[in-house]
Amino acid sequence: MTRKFDTDQLVRTENFIGGRWVPASSGARFAVVDPADGACIAEIADSAAADARAATDAAAAALPAWRETLPKERAAILRRWHALIVEHEAQLAALISREQGKPLAEGRGEVAYGAAYVAWFAEEATRIDGDLLAQQQRGKRMSAVKEPIGVVAAITPWNFPLAMIARKIAPALAAGCTVVGKPAEDTPLTASALVLLAHEAGVPAGVLNLITASRDRGIEAVADWLHDSRVRKITFTGSTAVGKYLARESAGTLKKVSLELGGNAPFIVFDDADLEAAVTGLMASKFRNGGQTCVSPNRVYVQAGTYERFADLLAQRVAALKVGPASQPDAQIGPMINARAVDKIARHVDDAVTRGARVLTGGKRLPGLGPNFFAPTVLAQANAGMLLCAEETFGPVAPLFRFEDEQEVIDAANATPYGLASYFYTNDIKRIERVSRALEAGIVGINEGAISSEAAPFGGIKESGYGREGSKYGLDDYLSIKYLCQGNLA
Ligand code: NAP
Repeated sequence: MTRKFDTDQLVRTENFIGGRWVPASSGARFAVVDPADGACIAEIADSAAADARAATDAAAAALPAWRETLPKERAAILRRWHALIVEHEAQLAALISREQGKPLAEGRGEVAYGAAYVAWFAEEATRIDGDLLAQQQRGKRMSAVKEPIGVVAAITPWNFPLAMIARKIAPALAAGCTVVGKPAEDTPLTASALVLLAHEAGVPAGVLNLITASRDRGIEAVADWLHDSRVRKITFTGSTAVGKYLARESAGTLKKVSLELGGNAPFIVFDDADLEAAVTGLMASKFRNGGQTCVSPNRVYVQAGTYERFADLLAQRVAALKVGPASQPDAQIGPMINARAVDKIARHVDDAVTRGARVLTGGKRLPGLGPNFFAPTVLAQANAGMLLCAEETFGPVAPLFRFEDEQEVIDAANATPYGLASYFYTNDIKRIERVSRALEAGIVGINEGAISSEAAPFGGIKESGYGREGSKYGLDDYLSIKYLCQGNLA
């Protein structure tokens, strides 16, 4: 019989190591704050290298037994975990909204999205098949079997505090790996709540371990994992700069690495597109989570023949968005995560205006609501010389670039080191074929702004990283292939 928790009961303030909630070994704590008003939500364990080491000790000790469990036994635990997440949808959504700031409806959406990965990998656990290879010599049999890679370290960002860690833990456990995890400084509480529910669902002690840390101590803690040869895999979602650092540092012990990194998504609207559908698609993909998503369109390219109409329609829709704290029931855009994030958005908008952009709506901070609020913004006359063209703004800002022809916009869309998501709208079937092949991105939305699904392979190319999360390919990152060669059979 599992317990039901209310939101406050889901809040944990310690690390979870070896099946127990324990304080940081130094006793240090840091404050988790509500981004809407800066109020302290909880003071929690501030871990460093010794805590990371203790988590690895527990995960390494639990590995031999866990990797020997039957796939259907692991699937049953994951299904129970999924059921508990769904049962606590409202409580988890409240926690997400409180520490991350997104409106409650989006918090609920995130719970459903993250839970879907747990359900998906519960099923995938039972399909880790190998191959009997075609016979090459009489009396000799060759086969390929898949094995869990070992202890996995999962490091996650603040923008989707539940979904990002769920879609790492679920495939790792399904594959038979054990896990050590560290969520972002800004949003550790949701991750701890998820781990609490996993424990309730029957994940054995030591199989799943989580430490929380402030930024500086967190770097020290993760460094311990990077250099520990018992940790065989790093799975990371976050910025490209940190992803490169993790890949470099983990090379000393040649770990397998999956990196879901930053993007600079183009969103292209051709003259022959369904304009209403394009605006609706952009609203969904650009303004979800206040623009703080890795697949958020960062550069909106509109063909000259529709540019003015598109800009008018979009500006009207954006001006009508309701901004407010998650506690406001009709809020559609919450606060940005912290002061650094708002400063970056303001810097991008100021730079664009200085270089000739025209503000159609928004364009400013909203101090009356709180220090971290920024008005949803549409900028016309954007150009390639602006900061917001080169860097991910990670906020509710849609800059509109005008283009004339297809090749010009493909060249512009690809003129970035990143390659995560891309989107285009057209009703020309031949253009769909050409453009979807030409775009340098791991994900292409064609007449569609909502591209995320547990059934699809999520991930990037170029400096947006490598590895795929979700789908039938998602388990591969947590498995290694062993070749068995059996002779003397004839
Ligand atoms: P970030 O600064 O790279 O942080 C991500 C995680 O890494 C956090 O847990 C962070 O801890 C930790 N971290 C930071 N510096 C570290 C270091 N030197 N060593 C070890 N760990 C370190 O990224 P963010 O600002 O939180 O997230 C936004 C970025 O994530 C954006 O670029 C976005 O596009 C990307 N993202 C990508 C995807 C995807 O699937 N491709 C999904 C979501 C977000 P602290 O929080 O304590 O600093």
